[in-house]
Amino acid sequence: MFEHLQPLPQDPILSLLGEYRVDTHPHKLDLGIGVYKDEQGNTPIIGAVKEAESRLLTSEQSKSYTAPAGTAEYNHLASALVFGTEHPALKDQRIISAQTPGGCGALRMGAEFLRGCSQKSRVWVSLPTWANHAPLLTGAGLEIAEYPYYDYATKGIQFEAMLQTLEQAHAGDFVLLHGCCHNPSGADLNPAQWQAVADLMARKGLIPFVDMAYQGLGNGLEQDAFGVRLLAEHFPEMLVATSCSKNFGLYRERTGTLFIIAANPAQAETAGSQLFSKIRSHYSMPPAHGAAIVETILADTGLTLSWKCELASMRERIQGLRQQLVSAITASDIEGDFTFIQHQFGMFSFLGISPQQVEQLRQDYSIYMINSSRMNIAGLNQSSMDYFVSALAKVLSA
Ligand code: PMP
Repeated sequence: MFEHLQPLPQDPILSLLGEYRVDTHPHKLDLGIGVYKDEQGNTPIIGAVKEAESRLLTSEQSKSYTAPAGTAEYNHLASALVFGTEHPALKDQRIISAQTPGGCGALRMGAEFLRGCSQKSRVWVSLPTWANHAPLLTGAGLEIAEYPYYDYATKGIQFEAMLQTLEQAHAGDFVLLHGCCHNPSGADLNPAQWQAVADLMARKGLIPFVDMAYQGLGNGLEQDAFGVRLLAEHFPEMLVATSCSKNFGLYRERTGTLFIIAANPAQAETAGSQLFSKIRSHYSMPPAHGAAIVETILADTGLTLSWKCELASMRERIQGLRQQLVSAITASDIEGDFTFIQHQFGMFSFLGISPQQVEQLRQDYSIYMINSSRMNIAGLNQSSMDYFVSALAKVLSA
């Protein structure tokens, strides 16, 4: 039977990484894959994570099963990080949560849960959105619809078009919003825009599904959670998927969280029973190590402080690189306005060059980014900045 299978193309980002690894160019630059990199181009283990791991090595007593939701302590601490300790939805016990295998696990389990709630609701996603959203959501059987978001001409959000399109959604439809650091565009809603989207969705009876994979890497841990917290105050029902891959640097440990907010504690408990049953039939329980690290950090004031400082320095490095890139481009022969880069958040921005120019950067200069020209700003550093800008100048003037 397997002889009838057709090979599928490799994920474009992963195949780009494969090409990059075998490239021998001394100045090669990987601006493709979405991981944070330091000034030396490494993705280091955060100090607080190392310390938590060494504590766990001596204190861990058992590898026995946990539960479909992971541990209660993890879920408690993760909720406080996302919603703050005083959020009314938490105090009213309207939130249930489950630790999941990464943000992907949270998104997929959220989609499975929503599909179980309604067979006819669609899920609206931004145009463009992260490439894995559609497979994760449609894989659970949800139908996708798109709302306009990033405007490639103005390099900002097409906010009016977004609202107009969402007016056409039906009551009970789900709307996927990026909590912060929109991937791939870096263009985030401002507080007034969050409020306007919330008003529209509440009026139309739409249900928010927020994906927040980069809390702390945009404007700050609290600032980045503004949209999630606002929606959670006003909506009786919503979902939030978060990830510890980037802000704790736990990528391969597969640690994320799915939160379901319901109208009251009884409905939250029932929703939880549905979710845990879905989890049980998919992977039974999440991997424990990454969650134990997060739990150890967040339960300890000293480790939390150390983690927050390191996260702040990662965020500031990205913001600094954004500014330096704009200054270097402005000082070069490159025509056009690239200042939008310094007004965007997180690791990604679209450079706004053509797929042919992206290809030329790769072939002639060993600079790797995906065809859409989404680049990982954190892949740059002081020594590669000039090389990158002069290569870009040559490609753009060709
Ligand atoms: N959502 C978005 C928008 C992302 O960019 C990512 C990571 N690239 C994720 C979710 C999930 O990440 P992970 O499963 O690695 O935690």
